[in-house]
Amino acid sequence: MSRGSPALKTFTDRQTGAAVRAAKWRAGKTDIPGVELVPLKENDRCRDCGQYVMLHGRLPGGRLACPGDWIVLGEKTATVVRPGDFEAKYEEDDGGIL
Ligand SMILES: [Zn+2]
Repeated sequence: MSRGSPALKTFTDRQTGAAVRAAKWRAGKTDIPGVELVPLKENDRCRDCGQYVMLHGRLPGGRLACPGDWIVLGEKTATVVRPGDFEAKYEEDDGGIL
């Protein structure tokens, strides 16, 4: 059983107070249920970040996470949030102001 991924941390939405789990995507380092590595044969460059697509994560539905993007897991959803946007929207539970 491999529940819980060590890469995932808990964050709170600054506006709604909702708790989410999220991890910064790094190919080969980030193990998130439902997010797959793009196969090595897909060696195109990403239109967003210019890096090879094989360094990306593929979410259910096909959305790609660029290296350094945050993947935010809700109850039944996984979304990609750009660095910067993520820090503005979410606060890490550990180390925040209590
Ligand atoms: Zn990209």
